[in-house]
Amino acid sequence: MTALKKDIECRGGALILRRGKAERIVPDLAAEIGASGVFWNRCYEAFAVERDKKIKAALKHQGITAQSFNGSLLSEPWELQTGAGAPYKVFTPFWKSLSAAYRDVTPLRAPDSIPSPGKLPISEALSDWKLLPAKPDWAGGLKDAWTPGEEGAKDRLSAFLDEGLENYQEGRDRPDRPFVSRLSPRLHWGELSPRQVWHATRLAAERSSGQKYRSAAWSFLREIGWREFSYNLLYNWPSLPEDNWKPQFDSFPWIDDEDGFAAWTQGCTGYPIVDAGMRELWTTGYMHNRVRMITASFLIKDLMVHWRKGEEWFWDTLVDADLASNAAGWQWVAGSGADASPYFRIFNPVSQGEKFDPKGAYVRHWVPELAGLPDKVIHKPWEASAAQLEDAGVTLGETYPEPIVDHAMARQRALQSYEAVKKG
Ligand code: FAD
Repeated sequence: MTALKKDIECRGGALILRRGKAERIVPDLAAEIGASGVFWNRCYEAFAVERDKKIKAALKHQGITAQSFNGSLLSEPWELQTGAGAPYKVFTPFWKSLSAAYRDVTPLRAPDSIPSPGKLPISEALSDWKLLPAKPDWAGGLKDAWTPGEEGAKDRLSAFLDEGLENYQEGRDRPDRPFVSRLSPRLHWGELSPRQVWHATRLAAERSSGQKYRSAAWSFLREIGWREFSYNLLYNWPSLPEDNWKPQFDSFPWIDDEDGFAAWTQGCTGYPIVDAGMRELWTTGYMHNRVRMITASFLIKDLMVHWRKGEEWFWDTLVDADLASNAAGWQWVAGSGADASPYFRIFNPVSQGEKFDPKGAYVRHWVPELAGLPDKVIHKPWEASAAQLEDAGVTLGETYPEPIVDHAMARQRALQSYEAVKKG
């Protein structure tokens, strides 16, 4: 917000802050400054659609032009439809249709000046909103990890295109490598638009002589396509964040495991890759996509805790918390969503760790109490010898937890519950 305020002020405009219901505040403010028009970028969450309809109606009633635009998606969620005229339920045909229909355009530059009314209305002070934690200040890791604002977002995009994209195909599965964009909060908060990302990526790919770079560019754009698909699902099935998209999951026997859930949130499950991910999330507000899938699978399938509990925790802790992508991500892992991973695909947290963090660098960073263990056992410390544990200063159950659940048993339990739901 501070960065946005500065960007607007250096163009001669002003950011007016008011708290309260937007349905009341926006029409009141428009009347106060004698505005002839109010323009904004559309949101697609059901509550936001309702709110914006009310704002539009109130403004029109006051004789003020009210117009909304698409600033955050490549295509409107009602535009792309199947041959039968229905919303897409499967990603691949959705992506084919989107990538064929989308017309890349050069994004407009921000205006050099923003005229503002002579007498500025009163703004509340940002500091009075007390948005930043003070006692205790738990946001230190977030401050270290991010530079909020449009400039920081643009720098991140250029750095990714220069240094990350070439290796994206490998990087998108490797939490130990710096080859993903980390643009999700930038896109969510509107610091960058997907059109800017698309245009810059296409341009970089056209200029590159390397086939590897060009095909990585398409893999990356396809992920932007998943973001669009999530919005397509949320807009067309507005209860996606609350309800199983596949109703047969309504009778699934979830377990109310308070202790397991608490251990999961704190990164103390005894499974190093899960704990590393949950601690990265708590400290930085971010988690690599592969680890989001592993941690979500652990909560849903190893602990059999309802996906909605995990969705809520991610919502509270992610800097990119996004109603569409978060709900779609959780339902994808649970198997209850559209075009989801089948429920019976249960990630083994040990082999996932060994495959995608083969030297244990990611675990060593986020679970430093295990850092001294050899690579071979870093993802399964309970298999380390007494000498290896002693050398590394690890005492299981004291300095690092024993696994809170036996994965092989949990896997069988989850599969049996799933079979019962299928038959029922
Ligand atoms: P990159 O790999 O660099 O991808 C580029 C962009 O594509 C991302 O910034 C994001 O906008 C989009 N993207 C990539 N993967 C996905 C995906 N699977 N679904 C939708 N969009 C995608 N993403 C969020 O933005 N907000 C969330 O709240 C969120 N919750 C998730 C919860 C779960 C359980 C899972 C499995 C995934 C979730 N995702 C969410 C999707 C994905 O994990 C993140 O978008 C991605 O990890 C962000 O990192 P990045 O920007 O480095 O991604």
